[in-house]
Amino acid sequence: MSSIQTPQAIRGTQDIFGAEAEAFGFVVETFERVRRLYRFRRAEMPVFEKTAVFSRSLGETTDVVSKEMYSFEDRGGESLTLRPEFTAGLARAYLTNGWQQYAPLKLATHGPLFRYERPQKGRYRQFHQIDAEVIGAAEPQADVELLVMADQLLHELGIADGVTLQLNTLGDAPSREAWRLALIAYFRDHAAELSEDSQERLEKNPLRILDSKDPRDKPFTAAAPRIDDFLSAEAQDFFGKVTSGLDAAGVAWTRAPALVRGLDYYRHTAFEFVTDRLGAQGTVLGGGRYDGLIEALGGPPTPAVGWAAGIERLAMLVGEKGEAKPDVVVALEDDTAHAYSMRLMADLRRAGFSAELIASGSPRKRFDKAVKIGADSLIAIGIDGGTPQLRLRSTPVSQRGEELEQFLVSFR
Ligand code: ATP
Ligand code: MG
Repeated sequence: MSSIQTPQAIRGTQDIFGAEAEAFGFVVETFERVRRLYRFRRAEMPVFEKTAVFSRSLGETTDVVSKEMYSFEDRGGESLTLRPEFTAGLARAYLTNGWQQYAPLKLATHGPLFRYERPQKGRYRQFHQIDAEVIGAAEPQADVELLVMADQLLHELGIADGVTLQLNTLGDAPSREAWRLALIAYFRDHAAELSEDSQERLEKNPLRILDSKDPRDKPFTAAAPRIDDFLSAEAQDFFGKVTSGLDAAGVAWTRAPALVRGLDYYRHTAFEFVTDRLGAQGTVLGGGRYDGLIEALGGPPTPAVGWAAGIERLAMLVGEKGEAKPDVVVALEDDTAHAYSMRLMADLRRAGFSAELIASGSPRKRFDKAVKIGADSLIAIGIDGGTPQLRLRSTPVSQRGEELEQFLVSFR
């Protein structure tokens, strides 16, 4: 027995395999197809950035920056952070690459993200998102386009049932500031009864109390002042155009007046697609307008809006996807026909048939192994009078079956 201990995987990471990996791939493939329909351009982004990219844009008092970032010093002494989200890195790239020339720029990306969170079902330390952003678009049409795209994605994934779009506006800067002051005044009167976390948020970031999951805060968040009483005419008009656009496009939504997002940079539209099928981790997709972000990174005032969705949570809703069966299974029953079987497999796959070769273990057992795979078509290769012999043992009565038979005629 070996005395070497196998290192364990890092807590909060997942090795995704088999049916779960198929569901994961299905989410990404569907996203890629839908983003092309909406003409979003693909971006591939670095997994790490200078820490300031995130600390400046997300806000120092947010959970992500204050508790969840994987930050470290590299060998050159620079503070770097594994990306906890895509938006800040995309905004940085927009500025450092001169992507302003493409504005309004519709971007799509996906990949791994890292947050130091308490691991549980639907919540990991390395997780994955699909992400869509429109940078440099001030008009509410951009918000509508992104929401219609998210809605179509959920439908094409087959998981739209039981997922609702919760929509809110946080108003423009003056509306949001007036609301913030009203929230501080209101929560101060109840400060002693709030959770410790919310007491801390009170002066710094009172909007975030509304996002609290602590039952002690719930009665107070329910009765808190609402943004509607503070919306400027301009902010009302903007929100009206978003909702009428959604109605016209046939996307259902519900108003969620207490919905705020975890990060500080949001303005106007804020939204989440929520389900009750995933327990506590019910938000599958979230986003909104972040007109203040690019300035926080030292750029010119630049309106932008976007969303991100957790691939693991979407894949859980999709459920286990069976791994597809091959079109053809080939059993090599005599090893002297080895080269012949190599030629057949290569030609089958070049002709577009997914094909599996069974060529290991006792030759007499290979045919039974091939049968067990349950493919539509089954081919056995043996030797007859010293030459390789191919027998089509079963094939479906279908167009695909005919195509295989035609292929075999020209192969022989
Ligand atoms: P939550 O309230 O669940 O912590 P969040 O507001 O932190 O979510 P966002 O930053 O908006 O999440 O990220 C968008 C989406 O990414 C979430 O709706 C969720 O689907 C997914 N997500 C966020 N954090 C995690 C995580 N630790 N593990 C798995 N998925 C995650
Ligand atoms: Mg979170």
